[in-house]
Parts: sequence; structure tokens; C-alpha cells
Amino acid sequence: MKKITTFLCVSVMLQSVAAQSFIQAYKDRADMVTQTNITTNLQEFGNLGIKTTGSVANTNTLNWIKNKYTSYGYTAGQMVESTFTYGSKTSKNLIITKTGTLYPNKFVIICGHYDTINGPGVNDNGSGTSIILEAARILKDVPTEYSIKFIHFSGEEQGLVGSSHYVNNVVYQGGVRKLDIKLVFNLDQVGGVKGNNNNTVYCDEDQGGVSSNNAASAAVTQQLRNCTALYSPLQTAVDPAEATDYIPFEQKGEVITGFFEKIRSNYPHTSKDTFANVDPVYVYNIGKAAVGALQHFATASTTSTLNKTASVHSLEAVKFYPNPANSILNIELPDSKVANFSFEMTNLTGRSLLKTNNETKINVSALEKGVYIGILKVGEQTVVKNILIDR
Ligand SMILES: [Zn+2]
Repeated sequence: MKKITTFLCVSVMLQSVAAQSFIQAYKDRADMVTQTNITTNLQEFGNLGIKTTGSVANTNTLNWIKNKYTSYGYTAGQMVESTFTYGSKTSKNLIITKTGTLYPNKFVIICGHYDTINGPGVNDNGSGTSIILEAARILKDVPTEYSIKFIHFSGEEQGLVGSSHYVNNVVYQGGVRKLDIKLVFNLDQVGGVKGNNNNTVYCDEDQGGVSSNNAASAAVTQQLRNCTALYSPLQTAVDPAEATDYIPFEQKGEVITGFFEKIRSNYPHTSKDTFANVDPVYVYNIGKAAVGALQHFATASTTSTLNKTASVHSLEAVKFYPNPANSILNIELPDSKVANFSFEMTNLTGRSLLKTNNETKINVSALEKGVYIGILKVGEQTVVKNILIDR
């Protein structure tokens, strides 16, 4: 997690998004992030315990991440474990490489740390880890012009030990730059604060350190904001890049950007950094933004391989409106022929407050003003969204 800044330079300038156009294939793939996968990843990450660098839980988590990549179809040859020492202990970074079609030797790095401190670290940084896994799953067979490295760092909480090792021993060897990096896109602490309307994400811009790379960071951070607007429901704001795994790259002049939660949780680095205290819907939405942006950065194929019928009928496209709702909440299913579905609203601790079957107009007038979770189920499919009641 990043250290607290006493002075936040927040840019909320409205800038043109005209330079970047919407690409339907990118949207289709961003929409392949599922709430179920994000929630499962977060819960499994939480169950792995306190992942202090060099601990058994730290190693178990590395193996859990590796098993995910294997299940997505990545080969052992694409995965590299890179060992570093920290004091008397050792730990590993995990690097997965997907080769680009046009620029195989130029790399877009998407990264985040998996080590935690004092607690299970579901927000810091199970959230970033879960999103990187979803991005890797979805893009596995999607051609990209640039190569992508999905990197899971350890040792972050001891002072960026894993990422510093990577930059100084893998990117640079004997002082010679061995890896041509297009940009570094880091995700750290994007879990949100449960019970809040987490509708905005910080995009991290390099405003310090080496000055030669600041303008390039500003440009890619603007692109990250554009992609977030194009491929997710979230709003963005800019904050200064600091104290997470992109910094060792920044110090070598690389171009960096990243995501960080806008409403900041106080739970990271405590035993309360658990699944119950994050907002899984926020992580899901940042996942969509990340998959959209990663495709843009790596220039993914713009030809959709997605079956159009499947896309139209995907439950993720369900609409709840108006949101915020006052007395009646309407449910619009992506497939009007679906006759059997259930809908439930719970509060943020999961207590069920309302349950209906096969109704598209839900009377919510008995609910108090606030944030709720709506759960729609059709057969085996489930979709979960935040619903606001305002009056
Ligand atoms: Zn962190």
C-alpha cells in the first residue's frame, strides 16, 4: 500500500477523450470480467492467511497464483519464478509472459504485489491480484501487438524489495538494460471501502522522481482515464504516483501509471483487511477498466472472437434502473425470453431484506436511503450490483 500523503494534488480537470475511440471488441472482453470470479479470487486470497514475505502462507499464495495461470491454459514455459532474499528469508516474484505479434520484444507490464502484512490483505493487495488474474484469463488467446508481462511481486510491504530486485537484476543486468518496457501499469489497494459509494478510481500519475518520464506518464495516465470511462462505469481522478511497485521502474526512467482506490480504507496492514471489509463490486468494475486499458496499452486485436448471441444474452448486461431508485426499481434482462429468475436485495453485511421471483418491477419503498447489494440469479448464473436508494 502507498504511504499517506498529507498533500494530495488532485487533478479533476476535464480533458478530451476524443483521441481514443471506443472499440467494441475491447468492451466485449472487459465485460468478460465476472463478479463471480472476482469474488472467488478475493475470498480464496483471504483464506490463504497473512502472507508476510518469506512465510509459508506467502509461498502458498505464490502457488495458488501459479495454479490459476495453469488453469487458464498458460504453460510452465511462460511462467518464471524469480527468487530474492530479504534479510535471512527468501521469497519469489512470479512473472508470466504472453508474446506479442508485432513487437515481441517490447513489453507492457501489468503488476501488483501479493505479499501482505499483519492481516490477510484482501484489499492490499488481494484486490489488484484478483484483477490481474482476470485480465490474464480473458486475454490468454487474444492476439496483442506488444508482449505482456503479468507480474506478481512479493516483498512490497518491506519497502518494494521484490520489485526493486526485479528492476535491478532482471530488467537491468550488470547495469545494462535487458528489457524494453513500453509502460508499467500497477494495481495496488483497489478494494474500496464497504458501505460507501465507491464510484471513482484514482489513476496514478508520475509527478516526481526522475523528471524525464513525467510527461509520458501523464499521457498514459490520461489514456487510462479514457479507458476507464469507455469500458467501466467508474469515474476517475488523478493522484501522484508514490510508494508502490512502479517506483523502482520510475527511478530507471520507465513510464508508469496505476490504479488506487479513491475512498481510502483504513484496514490495510491490519487483521481487518478481510473480504468482509472490501467492496467486491468496486473491484469488479476496476477489473473491467483494467482489461479495457490493458488491451489499449498492448494493442489487442479489434476483431471480436466473442459469439454475438452469448454477448447479448450474458447476464452481466442486466440493467437495474433508476439507480439510485426511489420507490420502484426496474429489472431489464438482456434476454427478454428469460422467464425464471430470482432477485434479492441485501444490506452490506449480507442480510437479506427483500426477495422476489420473476418480477421486473420491484417495490423498494420500504428500504431506507443507502447502499444495497442486488443479486440476480438465472439458473447457474449470478450477477451482483450495487443499488442505491435515495429519496
Ligand atoms: Zn499494497
